[in-house]
Amino acid sequence: MAMSKCISCGHHLFELREANVQRATYKYYFIQCSSCGAVINSVEYYNIGNKIETHTNDLARELSTLRAQNEEMKYQLQWITQKLQSR
Ligand SMILES: [Zn+2]
Repeated sequence: MAMSKCISCGHHLFELREANVQRATYKYYFIQCSSCGAVINSVEYYNIGNKIETHTNDLARELSTLRAQNEEMKYQLQWITQKLQSR
């Protein structure tokens, strides 16, 4: 497998560093060469992809709970209806 290298100095190790970008609305990290500091890329400080996945999982659990509660309420409503009809 090819080894990634810095296009500025040829070093092979990189680091994530909080970026100080003036007039930026959001915070960022730079992926930069750990030797010379040349910036390779930037990524969102808050990692929106991870947040979306977390919220998606939270919503899926909540939906599952609501479905179970809905089934229980249907069962109880059927039971009440049957008791009222048998009078
Ligand atoms: Zn470098």
